[in-house]
Amino acid sequence: MNIILLGAPGAGKGTQATKISERYNLPHISTGDIFRANIKNKTEIGLLAKSYIDKGQLVPDEVTCAIVKDRLTWDDCKNGCLLDGFPRNTYQAEQLDTFAEIGAVVNINIDFSLLMDRICGRRVCKDCGESYHVSTLGGATACSRCGGELIQRADDNPETVKNRLDVYNEQTAPLIDYYTKKGVILNFTGSEAPAEVLFAEIAAVLDKKIG
Ligand code: AMP
Repeated sequence: MNIILLGAPGAGKGTQATKISERYNLPHISTGDIFRANIKNKTEIGLLAKSYIDKGQLVPDEVTCAIVKDRLTWDDCKNGCLLDGFPRNTYQAEQLDTFAEIGAVVNINIDFSLLMDRICGRRVCKDCGESYHVSTLGGATACSRCGGELIQRADDNPETVKNRLDVYNEQTAPLIDYYTKKGVILNFTGSEAPAEVLFAEIAAVLDKKIG
């Protein structure tokens, strides 16, 4: 089954994606991760994506849709996948409908007042992508999962975050309605509780759908 993870930046999609992907053995496809890998490798796509990501804007639809369409043809997607950060607007959702069937959309709603601190305090592992918050690190600079170096994403700064939240409200939030009308949305509420609490709620619902 193909599953989409929907939610504002900082809602906890990445953390939940890792857990969902492991539990249901679905490849985790994050368009943000794909762009960051391209930026690191200085590819043409990376160069283009960086100019948008640095401003908190969306990378053009044609480029993004082509990447996802190709990724879904890989062998590991034959039993489904977990899309994280795609689609991000109605055009992308309509395009996705032309090449994939969506079985469930896990939508994480969250109080916007929590997001600025969450994102600006976020540190991620350079190697495995695990996410932390500075307030819980006690000065640690290495990932407790794999030992990799913890870094702050270049776009996790107040000005860019404000743009990303505006883009979410204007372009991505309408997808809640889009998928509600299709009858595939599953709504959850993110909070300051540990990620395991939300994951338990998500897994209880997905277990019944996926079996
Ligand atoms: P994320 O890691 O999902 O927060 O994405 C980081 C940035 O990558 C976003 O702020 C966008 O600039 C870009 N990006 C990720 N996914 C998409 C998408 N589906 N469409 C356009 N841009 C995207």
